[in-house]
Amino acid sequence: MRNLPSITFLLGQDAVRALLRSHPRPVVVNALRTLVEQHRAGGEPQVSREAWVSRILSRLPAEIAGREALPVRRVINAAGVVVHTNLGRAPLPEEALAAIADTARGYSNLEYDLGTGERSSRLVHVEGMLRALTGAECVHAVNNNAAAVLLCLAGLARGREVIVSRGELVEIGGSFRIPEIMVESGARLVEVGTTNRTRLADYERAITGQTALLLKVHRSNFALRGFTEEVPAGELARLGGRAGIPVMEDQGSGALFDFGAHGIRDALSLRRALAAGPGIVTASGDKLLGGPQAGIILGKEELVAPLKKHPLSRALRLDKLRLAALASVLRLYADERRAQARVPVLRMLLEPEERVRARALRLIRRVRREGRPGFALSLERGATSPGGGALPDVFVPTVCVAVSHPRIPEERLLERLRAGDPPVVARAGGGRVLLDLRTVRDDEVADLASALLAAAIGD
Ligand SMILES: *Cc1c(COP(=O)(O)O)cnc(C)c1O
Repeated sequence: MRNLPSITFLLGQDAVRALLRSHPRPVVVNALRTLVEQHRAGGEPQVSREAWVSRILSRLPAEIAGREALPVRRVINAAGVVVHTNLGRAPLPEEALAAIADTARGYSNLEYDLGTGERSSRLVHVEGMLRALTGAECVHAVNNNAAAVLLCLAGLARGREVIVSRGELVEIGGSFRIPEIMVESGARLVEVGTTNRTRLADYERAITGQTALLLKVHRSNFALRGFTEEVPAGELARLGGRAGIPVMEDQGSGALFDFGAHGIRDALSLRRALAAGPGIVTASGDKLLGGPQAGIILGKEELVAPLKKHPLSRALRLDKLRLAALASVLRLYADERRAQARVPVLRMLLEPEERVRARALRLIRRVRREGRPGFALSLERGATSPGGGALPDVFVPTVCVAVSHPRIPEERLLERLRAGDPPVVARAGGGRVLLDLRTVRDDEVADLASALLAAAIGD
């Protein structure tokens, strides 16, 4: 153990000095301490100092990397989930990226009326388009849909009761649970019906002088099948109308597009959700709408306008970069065909299967041209999920490249793909790795081919 180098000695090594230029000193020192201690605990005698130093230095970069928070990096999504919550949901159109860069680089008319030279509201940039695209009377936008729901509950029902069906007390994405949001908003939850069946009479019976709101929540990430019954938003709205109680629907997906016309069922658009009659509807900006993270609130003037002045609105507000991005995405929707071509979420969901197949073939050809990978590649039909807790029961036909290696099990191959540069996220299926080309861009095919080759090399 006498030959184990000191931290001071190690810090003087060229390789360590090079690392100190790009990593904070305390991180490097702590990483060295850990490695020296591990070797001391290993208790291996008769090792020369040179050997110790080279062992420690060879493990140092990984030890440092493990200590630093991993930066957010680009990932190739070959997992076949379009709005993948863990992979950042909706990729943005080029127009939105340009708007973000433009707004971020300098000053903007964020809250400034260039006509009058006076202060204005940041919402003006999205209000007109959202009203036109959804038919809403009044519009508000906040940080995300969870914030939108919280604000609506706090603003419309604090200290009073909100009636919700037991079948809609959902959890979305780990920490968004309707009962918990309700507690935070200061509203009291009144559950009606059962997990599988809720009728209009259940709501009707629960109405008291304390009722502030009837709430309907879209079951985004699961489907209820079998002996079920729920009250459509339209019927609930009529009940609310008779009782003089506002009705709210958490629509979730933010679809501005009529997916039904393209064979994707169950995707209720915001326009249709509003037309059914609820006074207030909330949705995300980065699910089927295909924009940046945002929470969109649409509805009647008398319900939505007071929310804009609520103190929580300031705490939950949308920042200028996402506002600029949202405005530019909404502008693309002015022409549906343009939106289909330019908004990545729409493009991915609506792309004809033949085009996906062509991309899959290009990937296979590219891998075969670049190397002799020693693994089998084949085309396989599959199903892409819209994801994002948007349409739990809907799948879009797709074409995958199935990869199988005689010596690398699929779990190991997936792990290596995730460790690649850029990392690739795929899925396993039937003993093979499946790469879904519907969620891969044309300009990512070359990188995907290299990543696949790199993952299979060394065996
Ligand atoms: C996704 C979703 C939410 C949460 O939205 P965020 O934008 O992630 O905050 C809330 N309600 C429904 C119905 C959803 O689908």
